[in-house]
Amino acid sequence: MGRLITEPKAYLVTKPSVDWERVAAFLADEGVPGVPQSIRAGEDESAAIAEISARLCYMSYGRGRRDIADFINNLLRSKDGSVFEHINYGFVFTGVSRSLTHELVRHRAGFAFSQRSQRYVDESGGSFVAPPALADADDKSRVVFESAIESAARSYEALVEALASAIPRERFDLATDHRKAIRQAARAVLPNATETKIFVTANVRAWRHFIEMRGSAFADVEIRSLAMMVLEALQREAPLLFGDFTIEELPDGTKTAAPKYSKV
Ligand SMILES: Cc1cc2nc3c(=O)[nH]c(=O)nc-3n(C[C@H](O)[C@H](O)[C@H](O)COP(=O)(O)OP(=O)(O)OC[C@H]3O[C@@H](n4cnc5c(N)ncnc54)[C@H](O)[C@@H]3O)c2cc1C
Repeated sequence: MGRLITEPKAYLVTKPSVDWERVAAFLADEGVPGVPQSIRAGEDESAAIAEISARLCYMSYGRGRRDIADFINNLLRSKDGSVFEHINYGFVFTGVSRSLTHELVRHRAGFAFSQRSQRYVDESGGSFVAPPALADADDKSRVVFESAIESAARSYEALVEALASAIPRERFDLATDHRKAIRQAARAVLPNATETKIFVTANVRAWRHFIEMRGSAFADVEIRSLAMMVLEALQREAPLLFGDFTIEELPDGTKTAAPKYSKV
């Protein structure tokens, strides 16, 4: 058996960006005030994208609203969430279980996923994710969990070996297709706790919905702790777009998040 993982990792790997020269050209061609009179978000590119797209709807460049915080809060309050779909952030998540990603990929609107394949990648010697509840559990629970995954890992490796002889190599033109046939059958004995890696891109509207659903006290603790990592990263990156989420600590020490403006 490989490593036993207790903490997921979330790497923010892609962010939105604005081509300010082209924005300036557009504003000049339309004869409206330039930056910063029209686009008050300034250096905050996530808020600027919301502002540029929202102002286009009414060609209201250079008009209305006290400042950018007031402008964004008004979008959130009035649930004008479609403009947040222009702003994308991509994360790589590692050290997460297959049960977590099974829940994660249920989020459809505005999400893109690329997950490590159990058909192409051999899981021998792979890692497993311990459910967070085990951290506070007694030794008996830990022994039961660890022996179950050790047994699954041994079964997987034995099955890969057995299937390598049972499935004829000659049936496939390519060795890689032979290996794929072996692994896609052998993975049937791997548990939900099997570690996986996934690249997830979503727009701000979708991330807000994900955090609201998975940051709730009703969500599974593993995906909730990942949702909190995502929220903390996005609050740093785009405070105006995620600043209305309140983080609270539950009696068990885990955290929850709830937005002021629900499902925009
Ligand atoms: C605490 C908790 C417990 C859960 N338990 C279960 C469970 O026991 N079994 C289970 O199967 N799932 C369960 N789920 C998953 C849940 O049902 C959703 O599939 C998941 O949360 C994704 O939510 P969503 O559909 O709103 O998100 P997304 O797919 O990202 O969609 C976002 C929003 O877009 C709109 N939308 C998206 N697709 C469509 C569409 N095809 N038609 C119309 N509108 C659309 C909806 O308004 C939707 O809310 C649970 C989720 C949570 C948070």
